[in-house]
Amino acid sequence: MSLVPFCASLYVHIPFCAGACDYCDFYSVPAPPNDGRMDALIDALLLEGEERFRRYGVGQVPTVYIGGGTPSVLGADRMTRLLGGLAAILPGQPGEFTVEVNPESADRAFLEACRAGGVSRISLGVQSFHEPSRRAVHRVGEGRLLTERLKLVAEIFGDNFSADLMTGLPFQHEKVLLNDIEKLLVYKPGHISLYSLTVEEGTVLAVRPRSALPPADEADRLWIRGRDFLEAAGYEQYEVSNFSLPGKQCRHNIRYWRMENWIGVGPAASGTIIDDEAGTGRRHTVCPDVDAWLAAHSSATAATALRSPGASGPVPVTEEFLDPPALMKETLLMGFRYTNGPDAAAFRRRFRCTLEEAIPQSLAAWRNRGLLRQDRAALNRDGLLFLNPFLLDVFGEVG
Ligand code: SF4
Repeated sequence: MSLVPFCASLYVHIPFCAGACDYCDFYSVPAPPNDGRMDALIDALLLEGEERFRRYGVGQVPTVYIGGGTPSVLGADRMTRLLGGLAAILPGQPGEFTVEVNPESADRAFLEACRAGGVSRISLGVQSFHEPSRRAVHRVGEGRLLTERLKLVAEIFGDNFSADLMTGLPFQHEKVLLNDIEKLLVYKPGHISLYSLTVEEGTVLAVRPRSALPPADEADRLWIRGRDFLEAAGYEQYEVSNFSLPGKQCRHNIRYWRMENWIGVGPAASGTIIDDEAGTGRRHTVCPDVDAWLAAHSSATAATALRSPGASGPVPVTEEFLDPPALMKETLLMGFRYTNGPDAAAFRRRFRCTLEEAIPQSLAAWRNRGLLRQDRAALNRDGLLFLNPFLLDVFGEVG
């Protein structure tokens, strides 16, 4: 029997937002602050978290991430209750504990409740300060509130915060984007995510395209301009869309990119548990319907819910088995997002072959094009711009 405690990160999904952004494809429902479902949500999340820890025998949780949706819509009191409940079920203090917030609800009381409850890092949804761009996609919150909230986050968390920016928004051009980045840099975030707007199927934006959206090649150019600006300001790209100051990378997300165990709790959350010996994984995905999920939790007695968490139990959770080819594809898909590439030692341990043995043709072809790093199997700075065609080659090769 192993003496090493079983290690898994924790992701908690808060499925509520103050509004609905037109490009959003995350699971969330608009809810006012007095929505009674938020109180029931906290109890159910804690029950579900406790059950998952017990089920998988988790003895170590290196990172926790509360995302959404918009966790800050919970308000300070509910957040205090959630954090207190998590502290009681976590096996120890995680090395990194992040909470996502949006400006309209990230007030001083909420941020201080996070700090007091053990949160070490905030992720703030900025996207853009430019009002026409925000309005065009129905982004909740006003740009002018952003500066106030950025100041507060920096006061309470120092540089231990991340800010999301978006390129390719309607009415955005280079001057607007660079102005957004400059405004953000005033608050010295340790971490910045620079996302390119994508029109995902099923979103409002896909149904009602905006004429003010920049054409695709201009959107790409904008993102590259943003990347260059961030790098010149001292932020190092360490993933396709993520940049940080030294030592400020997001450890939780790195665990995803390296396909290390994590547990998902809350409506639409998913988690993956890896069996390195067998080269397989088990994925659990919680029902993406907050009302059905809450009803299942409330109709089950706590004891029943704890005993029957699987697909056949009262709380709807689907389970999927990842066989070695499926897990290898995911490991490659996630790993090549990261500038260090997939973890070579973990890959060999998991699949009994090296990356060079698994995808020799793709690595040779992309190395010849000068788009791989010299020192390891990873895309270089230019190569990351072609991640999707690279992955198509990789997937074609692994079958
Ligand atoms: S705030 Fe975030 S999660 Fe909520 S609707 Fe907008 S993009 Fe989606």
